[in-house]
Amino acid sequence: LPVEFVQALPVLKKIIAHGFEAYFVGGSVRDVLLGREIHDVDIATSAYPEEIKAIFPHTIDVGIEHGTVLVLAGKSEAEHYEITTFRTESKYTDYRRPDHVDFVRDLREDLKRRDFTVNAFACDVNGEIIDLFDGLLDLKERRLRAVGSASERFNEDALRIMRAMRFAATLDFAIEAETFVAMCERANLLEKISVERIFIELDKLFLGADWRNGLTLLVQSGAWKYLPAFQLPALEKMLTEISSTFHFQNSEQAWAALLTRFTQIEVKNFLRQWKVSNDFAKYVSDLVSAYAIKKWDLLSLYQFGLEKVQLVDQLKNACGLEIDENYAIELDHQLQIHDKSEIVVAGKDLMKELSLKPGPELGQILRKIEQKIVQNQLKNERRAIFEAVKKEWKLK
Ligand code: ATP
Ligand code: MG
Repeated sequence: LPVEFVQALPVLKKIIAHGFEAYFVGGSVRDVLLGREIHDVDIATSAYPEEIKAIFPHTIDVGIEHGTVLVLAGKSEAEHYEITTFRTESKYTDYRRPDHVDFVRDLREDLKRRDFTVNAFACDVNGEIIDLFDGLLDLKERRLRAVGSASERFNEDALRIMRAMRFAATLDFAIEAETFVAMCERANLLEKISVERIFIELDKLFLGADWRNGLTLLVQSGAWKYLPAFQLPALEKMLTEISSTFHFQNSEQAWAALLTRFTQIEVKNFLRQWKVSNDFAKYVSDLVSAYAIKKWDLLSLYQFGLEKVQLVDQLKNACGLEIDENYAIELDHQLQIHDKSEIVVAGKDLMKELSLKPGPELGQILRKIEQKIVQNQLKNERRAIFEAVKKEWKLK
């Protein structure tokens, strides 16, 4: 057992001592078996939420309607465990989320509702793996297979189609034939899934070590057609032009890579349809605009900032453009300021010193000062700035 599981053992044992069952389940068991790092330890139990709350003195109802209680076994976050009652999900009338969940006492029922065989393991306190759907074989052969009838499972919850591609990208797994056929047939149901949920999966796909595997499946399955504002040439460009060894540094860089083929209006429209935050949209559109710039100068570097410029340089290099990434760093050293707040003279100083009045002209003067400082035509010093303003605007 990995240390994360060993640390949680007292919690499982306590549940068992009260006459219930408790297992490690979900992605962490899969990741342990694959020798991958695990991030969250999920625990499933036959105890009902109220029963869990009676066993542990410190709990928080984080998702009690789904059967999840957070048990605070210690002070640190690492000792907080999500414990979920075995459950089944009934009726997916809107292809999205189950209408309600039913708590059950049988582990088998809980594992049956899970999406893929490699996500449907349970691991008991002795480290024994419960594998009801031949997930161990699929794990060995590195393939994703739906639990039960793939077609029915995607029909119940079409998000699983995105999850399949996401896991293909993060685990570098293939998709078992029948599961893939069902994905293609049910792909149109993705139109019923909220963009926010799809975004999360796509984002994880892009950041996966094997994002091309996931993206290739997105193209081959035809699922891309049901994603808002997607364009096939942009996807193909990502697959053909970006070097096969390249990994995206962050989400913004990945989404920008997709959007470099889009016009400015299309980029705006795309990001609006995906309902991303304003900050994210701004960052991505900046990367796309910066990507169109052939060679950095002080002004463009100042405008976008070194961080974005470096993300763009990396992306260009991944596309074989042979950019010298040191150039931006050298240029950045030449910048006197990185933000207008660093200018030593503010509007009120100009008003006081040179008896300027507030208004559009003052704004213009400030912008001009900023530009000259950025381009090193003016020192960021009070005296130098006042002199320049007097000379240029013939004041006093
Ligand atoms: P990650 O490593 O990204 O957390 P994960 O496998 O833990 O991957 P989660 O989204 O955290 O994925 O879900 C935990 C578990 O819950 C999954 O392993 C799977 O068993 C089950 N699960 C999650 N979403 C679904 C779904 N849409 N349909 C069926 N089972 C699901
Ligand atoms: Mg998880």
